[in-house]
Amino acid sequence: MVMDFHQPATWSEALEIKAAHPDAMPVAGGTDVMVEINLDHHRPAAILDLTRISELREWGTEDGLLRIGAGVTYTRLIDELGGRLPGMAIASRTVGSPQIRNRGTVGGNLGTSSPAGDAHPPLLAADAIVEVESRSGRRRVPAREFFTGPKRNAMKKDELIAAFLIEPARGPQQFSKVGTRNAMVIAVCSFALALDPERRRAGTGIGSAGPTPLRAVEAEEFIQGELDWEGRRPPGEAVVRRFGELVAAAAKPIDDVRGTAAYRRHALAVMARRCLSWAWREDAPLPPSGGGSGRGA
Ligand SMILES: Cc1cc2nc3c(=O)[nH]c(=O)nc-3n(C[C@H](O)[C@H](O)[C@H](O)COP(=O)(O)OP(=O)(O)OC[C@H]3O[C@@H](n4cnc5c(N)ncnc54)[C@H](O)[C@@H]3O)c2cc1C
Repeated sequence: MVMDFHQPATWSEALEIKAAHPDAMPVAGGTDVMVEINLDHHRPAAILDLTRISELREWGTEDGLLRIGAGVTYTRLIDELGGRLPGMAIASRTVGSPQIRNRGTVGGNLGTSSPAGDAHPPLLAADAIVEVESRSGRRRVPAREFFTGPKRNAMKKDELIAAFLIEPARGPQQFSKVGTRNAMVIAVCSFALALDPERRRAGTGIGSAGPTPLRAVEAEEFIQGELDWEGRRPPGEAVVRRFGELVAAAAKPIDDVRGTAAYRRHALAVMARRCLSWAWREDAPLPPSGGGSGRGA
C-alpha cells in the first residue's frame, strides 16, 4: 500500500499540509507511531514528519510560564528543565529507556492521549496548558480539558500541537508510578502532586486509572484546607490517610491485563500518601544542624 510522506521544513508549511491532508498522521519521535504501523494496528494514508521543524524543539519563557515546544524530548526536558519542573522530570525519567527518552516527546504523549501517558499526571497537577494550532489560528486548551476519552483529545482534524505551557514549580512536586517491573513499563497506575505553599494550593494528576488522565479534585480541596502552610508542621496520620482515600475514590479504574481495579485504587492511595509525605518533607525548612531534606524512603 502506498503511503504519502510529507516532510515540511517550517511550522507554517506543516500547518498548510495538515489543512490540505487532515488524515496525515504527524510523527515526532515515532515511538508510538512506528509501533502502531509495525504491528499493523494502524496504516495512515500519509505521514507528516515534524522532525525538521526547529520551532518545535525550542523552549522559552512567556509571562512567567515556560513555553515548551511539542518536539522537546524527555531527555532534554530532564537535562535542561528538570530544576524548574521537578514533577515533569521525575515522570520523564520513568518513560521507557534512554533510547525512548532520546526520541520521545511530550507532544507525542499528548498526541496519543493514552490514559497511561506518564507526562499527563504532572501536566494536570501543575495546571499546564496545551497550545494547538491550525491554519485558521492558535488556541490554548487547559490540560484539564484536553483529554476527552481513551486516546481521544480536544484537537480538531486540522490542528497540530505546537507546545505546552507550564508554570515553573512554586513548591515541591512528586510523581510515583507502579508497573510490573522497574523500567520499560506502561504504568499500572501513577500519581502526581504539585504543592504551591504561597498560594496554598495542591494539584493532583492520576494516570492509568480511568478512561482519561484524571484530577482528584476533592483530595486537592481537602488537603489544601488541612496542611499547616504557615507553621509547616507535618500532616497527621489521619489526614494523610484521608488524602489517600480521596485520591483512590477519584479514580475510575477497570480490571485489565495490567491490574485489577481494586489493586489500582489500593496502589493510588499508597502513592498519594507517599507523594504527600515526600513533598512535605522536601518543603520543610532545614533543621538547625544542617541535615538534608529529600525524598526519603
Ligand atoms: C519501548 C517503549 C517504551 C515506552 N515507555 C513509555 C513509558 O514508560 N511511558 C509513556 O508514557 N510512554 C511510553 N512509551 C510510549 C511513547 O514513547 C510516548 O508516548 C512518547 O511520549 C511518544 O512521543 P513521540 O514523540 O515518539 O510520539 P510519536 O510516536 O511521534 O507520536 C505519537 C502520537 O502523537 C501524534 N503527534 C506527535 N506530535 C504531534 C504534534 N506536534 N501535533 C499533533 N499530534 C502529534 C502522532 O500523530 C501520534 O498520534 C513507550 C514506547 C515504547 C516503544
